Amino acid sequence: MNITVIISDFAGEHETYFKQLKSFIKDCIASVKVIVITDKASQYASIVDRIDVIEFEAYDSEVIANYIAKHLEPSRKIIFDSSILSRELAGRLSYKLNIPGLIDVRAMKSNNESVIFTKHVYAANLVAEFETIDFCITLSKTVPKSEESLKPSTINKVHQVSMDSTVKVLSVNPILKEKDKDMLIVIGRGVDVTNDLNKIKTLTAHMDADLGASRPICMGGYVSLEHLVGVSGKIYSPKICITLGVSGALAFYPGIEKSKVIISINEDKDAPIMKYSDYCIQSDYKDIVNYLEGLYE
Ligand SMILES: Cc1cc2nc3c(=O)[nH]c(=O)nc-3n(C[C@H](O)[C@H](O)[C@H](O)COP(=O)(O)OP(=O)(O)OC[C@H]3O[C@@H](n4cnc5c(N)ncnc54)[C@H](O)[C@@H]3O)c2cc1C
Repeated sequence: MNITVIISDFAGEHETYFKQLKSFIKDCIASVKVIVITDKASQYASIVDRIDVIEFEAYDSEVIANYIAKHLEPSRKIIFDSSILSRELAGRLSYKLNIPGLIDVRAMKSNNESVIFTKHVYAANLVAEFETIDFCITLSKTVPKSEESLKPSTINKVHQVSMDSTVKVLSVNPILKEKDKDMLIVIGRGVDVTNDLNKIKTLTAHMDADLGASRPICMGGYVSLEHLVGVSGKIYSPKICITLGVSGALAFYPGIEKSKVIISINEDKDAPIMKYSDYCIQSDYKDIVNYLEGLYE
């Protein structure tokens, strides 16, 4: 099997990437061609004796992907390192060359002509295997680095590429993110979202609170994933957190653990959230929502 490995050295992290690659392809019998892409060629220790280096004036993923696609005739078995830049490049290259693409791959094993890749899917709740003959993948950051040392490589040739970007960068500005509010109201599966979501949204606005939701509410499509509270979502630290119809599962609680005061409304006095809360109200959430709404009317 002939594999082309493409390492991006724009951030000077090539040693980490080569060590990850060494452990990643260890068990696969393959002949490996290595290409380093960089804005400043230097000396490299790698996993093979000879490497190609392409020096670009600057990082521009479209220019780089075009250059690799057109001029280097890479094999249809391409492995990129685990950098963010490579995720972008791999996506573009897989599209341009019409090769199946996968990002954040954790392991690989050969299976005759094909290769089986392992990666986490569905917000890392499942592990999946994919079999393919051609591939354009990036490694996961979790791939361990090999303990073995790298060998100094001779550079075949430094290709120098001047930029001819079709995209003009007009401006790059930081995104101004809204600060979290002092109060957070979190809705869980106990809430009848079909009938009460709008009412709770109005209450949230009246109380100048953020709206959070447990996973079943987000997965049901009632509110967007930006509102997800917990280990798979956002960790809040408001002054006051009110939970409505949330059970307080282990994966949820870290999302509100840093709140100064937690007030929970649940019909079940034995729900785990009641143990974690400063104030517990054993009640139908509707009564409390109606009461609070009444205060603002
Ligand atoms: C790997 C993994 C990651 C996960 N990450 C997250 C995460 O980040 N965030 C997250 O939320 N979940 C996460 N989960 C899911 C989590 O384990 C729970 O399934 C989820 O938090 C339960 O949500 P809930 O409390 O809304 O629902 P439920 O557990 O069903 O609880 C509903 C609660 O509402 C109460 N209730 C019912 N009717 C009323 C009423 N009328 N008034 C008052 N109370 C009422 C019930 O007594 C019950 O306690 C994850 C799971 C896994 C496996």
